[in-house]
Amino acid sequence: MRPYAYTRARSVRDAVRGTGPGTAFLAGGTTLVDLMKLEVMTPDRVVDIDRLPLRGITLDRTGLHVGALERMSDVAAAPVVREQYPMVAQALELSASAQLRNMASIGGNLLQRTRCGYFRDVSTPCNKREPGSGCSALDGVNRGHAILGTSDDCIATHPSDLAVPLVALSTLVHLASARGSRTVPLDAFYTLPGSTPDVENVLRTDELITGITVPRSPWAARSVYVKVRDRQSYEFALTSAAVALELRGRTITTARVAAGGVGTRPWRLTGVERALTGRPATPATFEAAVTGAADGARTREHNAFKPALLRRTLVRALTELQESR
Ligand code: SF4
Repeated sequence: MRPYAYTRARSVRDAVRGTGPGTAFLAGGTTLVDLMKLEVMTPDRVVDIDRLPLRGITLDRTGLHVGALERMSDVAAAPVVREQYPMVAQALELSASAQLRNMASIGGNLLQRTRCGYFRDVSTPCNKREPGSGCSALDGVNRGHAILGTSDDCIATHPSDLAVPLVALSTLVHLASARGSRTVPLDAFYTLPGSTPDVENVLRTDELITGITVPRSPWAARSVYVKVRDRQSYEFALTSAAVALELRGRTITTARVAAGGVGTRPWRLTGVERALTGRPATPATFEAAVTGAADGARTREHNAFKPALLRRTLVRALTELQESR
């Protein structure tokens, strides 16, 4: 690990003062410390924000408000999350390991870096780590890589489980800097890799995530998160599906659907949502609605199974949700 200057912030204003390129914020440390040890991330200055008062899990008429420094395990265990936003609690509980969930913050989870092995191996070319060096995954080991939103410069999958249901539920991300605060929809927060895969979101170098708001909705309480992976614990998604439905009788009046493990960012499936809306909640509807879920997918040598697996994951999530009513 390279030397760096360490400071502990006493307030949000203190944390964002003088920040910019070369500054990293430290909360739970479950991503940053790993990447600093590997010298994938080499900040000159680390600002410890872990004692800032960015906590709280509250529900009001506008939605669920979660402080950026709340721990994943605490949010997953909160009764209001389990009852009103079950797919959020499920996505958290299916993430990482119990030890990591006890340490990792909600803000850090949304900013975690890709698990592409080449990104973490500084001896290999990687455009995300070192712009212009090339992409080792294009013709390398790419079984876990993305099929949607990829570019000729990067095919890395977005790793967060939590971000998938949050995108489906139109979550807002609250940001602060020395210039003030702003709010960005999570769906617009993440950027596609294009020719600049080192840029992963619209967060400016002097900004800090302070919290999120998940809007209140009748469909959030009837929701499920399904994750398919190579082993049942401590593994990233090959595919995942976050599905929320509102029904009147047997008719689907609102559908929210997003996928993980397949996109370079959490992938909202508005075409599937439209295909479900106004239809009866039946196996035939589910099968028909997911037909185009992977339209536009670009597969590589080892991940050609993902379009079919995505469709099956979506049908399983829809079926589980229907059968749980
Ligand atoms: Fe790097 Fe992206 Fe290619 Fe992985 S897929 S090697 S992160 S450029």
